[in-house]
Amino acid sequence: MITRAQEVSLREMALAILAKAGAVIRDDERQAVVVSDFGLGDPARTGIETLTFFNTDRISAKLIILGPRQTCPEHWHPAVGEDPGKEEIMRVRWGLVYLYTEGPATPNPGGAPPAGREEWYTARYETVLRPGDQIRLPPGSIHWFQAGDEGAVIDDYATCSRDVLDRFTDPAVVRTTVIAD
Ligand code: ZN
Repeated sequence: MITRAQEVSLREMALAILAKAGAVIRDDERQAVVVSDFGLGDPARTGIETLTFFNTDRISAKLIILGPRQTCPEHWHPAVGEDPGKEEIMRVRWGLVYLYTEGPATPNPGGAPPAGREEWYTARYETVLRPGDQIRLPPGSIHWFQAGDEGAVIDDYATCSRDVLDRFTDPAVVRTTVIAD
């Protein structure tokens, strides 16, 4: 759960980072930036801000904005019926992103799981993504990511996005963010 004040302040942070990134956002989209805390109530550390451009039955595109060292927790996109699961391509627009996938643990990684939740971060193979770098995440693949010290903006392209069906390693994670008045 987050408070209205936390939501407003993280949305403002995201809009400031988008401005630094030179992203063109319509006025009516500013309030559409969604703050997610993944149910952990510590959104500046474990959380993301997103601005969805479109999400049809087959394709979606959004911006993911991360504050300094903000982390999207480890998750995967499971198969749904005949659909093998969301295929996702992340392209960094601004800032630095440490992305972790399955594979040999990278020695001296640039990022680290949020303190106290290390056991729920199993993917330790690091890919450092800078502006213009992009990576494909196949359906079902485990991943998590963290911004560098300045934050980051990611262009995220995917097949139909059903965030509520995403699966998380950390059992405390709840995908739907509750905002208290
Ligand atoms: Zn994902």
